[in-house]
Amino acid sequence: PVVTRFAPSPTGYLHIGGARTALFNWLYARGRGGKFLLRIEDTDRERSTPEATAAILQGMEWLGLDHDGEVISQFERADRHAEVARQLLAEGKAYKCFATQEEIAAFREQAKAEGKSTLYRSPWRDAAEASHPDAPYVIRIKAPQDGATVIKDEVQGDVTIRNDQLDDMILLRSDGTPVYMLAVVVDDHDMGVTHVIRGDDHLNNAARQMMIYQAMGWEVPVWAHIPLIHGADGKKLSKRHGALGAQEYQAMGYPAAGMRNYLARLGWSHGDDEFFTDSQAKEWFNLAGIGKSPARFDTKKLENLCGQHIAVSDDAALRQEICAYLAAAGEPALTDAQSQGLERAMYCLKDRARTFPELLEKAHFILASRPLERDAKAEKALSSVSDGILEELTPQLQNASWVRDDLEALLNAFAEAHDTKFGKLAGPLRAVLAGRAVTPSVFDMMLILGREETLARLKDATG
Ligand code: GLU
Repeated sequence: PVVTRFAPSPTGYLHIGGARTALFNWLYARGRGGKFLLRIEDTDRERSTPEATAAILQGMEWLGLDHDGEVISQFERADRHAEVARQLLAEGKAYKCFATQEEIAAFREQAKAEGKSTLYRSPWRDAAEASHPDAPYVIRIKAPQDGATVIKDEVQGDVTIRNDQLDDMILLRSDGTPVYMLAVVVDDHDMGVTHVIRGDDHLNNAARQMMIYQAMGWEVPVWAHIPLIHGADGKKLSKRHGALGAQEYQAMGYPAAGMRNYLARLGWSHGDDEFFTDSQAKEWFNLAGIGKSPARFDTKKLENLCGQHIAVSDDAALRQEICAYLAAAGEPALTDAQSQGLERAMYCLKDRARTFPELLEKAHFILASRPLERDAKAEKALSSVSDGILEELTPQLQNASWVRDDLEALLNAFAEAHDTKFGKLAGPLRAVLAGRAVTPSVFDMMLILGREETLARLKDATG
């Protein structure tokens, strides 16, 4: 069975790159009936904060990336990591190194002077007996010294590292704390991780992690190191490119489904498919489709996909997501009446809105209450009709049958009777019903508002 994991360091919010890594691991597991685990790599006590962990969890929750089992804290597993270091020591695959900082510095200096590699070679590796009972020591792994280590990577292909470039990496520091590299390997092994999908900034670590797998005789997981994300200008994604935090995208009003679709396409492809549902993504996602070159973040594409997802979303689910968006953006919450109105109107709001702010702009007619404030465009549209005309609508609407076809016929006939076209009346009617120039169709608004409210707004405007 497939087991993947996401292993963020809790030193900040969930950034776009991390969100994509999490998504890839989630898709890979979910599409194969596997498990997707979450491990918080909080061993750097100075930089790890509970706030960052909370932000990462929230970002994942927003994106719907549910994990299996408990959240694992790497720091809490330090004893187990140390145990593995001691096991390697007992098996002669690691050794105690009593070298002092000064000795190591002197070694390096001399190597440099002689033009040799400055990788530290500890004399304690081959010492017959560790003979400094009370002196502090670190535990170092015995790195392979000849030949090469080959990392079989599903994205990068075979990556070969000459073993003379590996040093006897420290596993356990002199204060008994395990190093990060050891923690990752032990955790991935103990958690039963079968596939590691992560940023290619970790590729170099893989060679060192491999030493530990080999020394322990553990099965190496399938590795897929994915190229990082670049900005539209082709440079590494940074704050210059705008928002970086996944939750900032929530606060800007992008729907999670659109974000997932976009992030899935960012560096992975399935033929020419751009738009897809979650179930398609789970079914299609594979390591073979991951590209070798960095993907560029493209806000236009994100928005287009978001628009397509909004258009096909279920109305009640959209209403809920919009309420969550408002909270994330620090906007006032909708009242129950507003939120119910929004859901009733959703069918005519959701085509052509790429973001929730765009959708809410069109929803203004149902969210605002009388008397409506009119914006400048609406004011202008309203003043373009001759005096008295709109008033004449009142008695007609009072008796109209309140269904789309009849209202359409009524308004067309009304326009004709005034020597004009319905098109000319639409702007003023939008102003009457919404106080805005950009709205859903006049008929949709009338149907959603109902006869009484329509007439009241007409009265307000013609007053
Ligand atoms: N904690 C590492 C990071 O946030 C990930 C390590 C890994 O996936 O192996 O970059």
